[in-house]
Amino acid sequence: MAATCQHLSGVRDVTPSARGCEECLKTGSPWVHLRLCRSCGHVGCCDDSPNRHATKHFHATGHPIIEGYDPPEGWGWCYVDEIAVKLDHKTPQRGPIKRWV
Ligand SMILES: [Zn+2]
Ligand SMILES: [Zn+2]
Ligand SMILES: [Zn+2]
Repeated sequence: MAATCQHLSGVRDVTPSARGCEECLKTGSPWVHLRLCRSCGHVGCCDDSPNRHATKHFHATGHPIIEGYDPPEGWGWCYVDEIAVKLDHKTPQRGPIKRWV
């Protein structure tokens, strides 16, 4: 993998905003996997989910890096560079997270 991500230096330790996709919890929608924004702590659902809130969050905010979050797996994704990135630090979950699948 030749590409490098310049956004990793902006990754912060965050507090997850919700125990599940923030928007889907409000509407009662299911998700497949969760993505945690490492800029602000927003929890959204992945692109395999009907509502794709993590990607929508990136388009709305420009926050580049998300972490795979169900459970925390130590990998991340940069939306800007469209590459997988390795995160030094996993974000612990705040509590049990509802699973739909
Ligand atoms: Zn990047
Ligand atoms: Zn969602
Ligand atoms: Zn964010």
